[in-house]
Amino acid sequence: MSADKRKPILVIGLGRFGQAVAKSLKRMGHEVLGVDCNPQSVQAMADTLTQCVEADTTDTETLRRLGVEDFEAAVVGIGSDIEASVLTTLALSDLGVTQIWAKAVNDNHGRILDRTGATNIVYPEARMGERVAHILSGKMIDYIEFDDDFAIAKLAAPKDIAEKTLGQSAIRTHHGITVVGVKSPTKDFEYAQPHTMIELGDLLIVSGTRQNVERFVAAAS
Ligand code: ADP
Repeated sequence: MSADKRKPILVIGLGRFGQAVAKSLKRMGHEVLGVDCNPQSVQAMADTLTQCVEADTTDTETLRRLGVEDFEAAVVGIGSDIEASVLTTLALSDLGVTQIWAKAVNDNHGRILDRTGATNIVYPEARMGERVAHILSGKMIDYIEFDDDFAIAKLAAPKDIAEKTLGQSAIRTHHGITVVGVKSPTKDFEYAQPHTMIELGDLLIVSGTRQNVERFVAAAS
């Protein structure tokens, strides 16, 4: 469930990740309280966020005094100090915060966060690494992978499906992937339909299991 627009959101740990999340939420119209134990990080965000507070969030009493129970969701952006990340997540969970989004730096960190009450765990560096590898190694222009083995990729239309409609090339039957959208150089993106004609030079957005998307892209020429 996404956070309610009217309720404030707490962002703890104003490093690169926390700052990016906090700024985006503020831009989208949320009230954002930023918290960090480092006065320079607090100072850096003071003019951008609704409110910025310097505090050590591993302490449950400190979080209680900040009124964390009144927040719709909390984001824990502490990464390098795993102990602080885990204790903060645990304290938020003990105080009854229902949506806790926590950043993990590796799988073990993620497993501990899961046990200590994080409702959503994000792996920004691992995910970005996978994405860069996919784009760099081949023909993908963009790539997003979801947790449940599902991926979406953007790529140039391969020759073997060009000059045919999607129905004629039967991509889903042959490759197990779905073409979601098509962009030809002179037009806007269109939702793909069986009668959509693919031309060389078009861009495709395709979706499917990670393996099928990777295979389809690897076979594309
Ligand atoms: P990034 O890689 O996104 O910059 P870091 O883990 O390096 O993430 O930084 C996270 C931020 O969390 C830092 O600004 C740091 O001061 C803050 N932080 C670390 N421990 C605590 C804590 N106990 N309470 C509040 N903020 C903390």
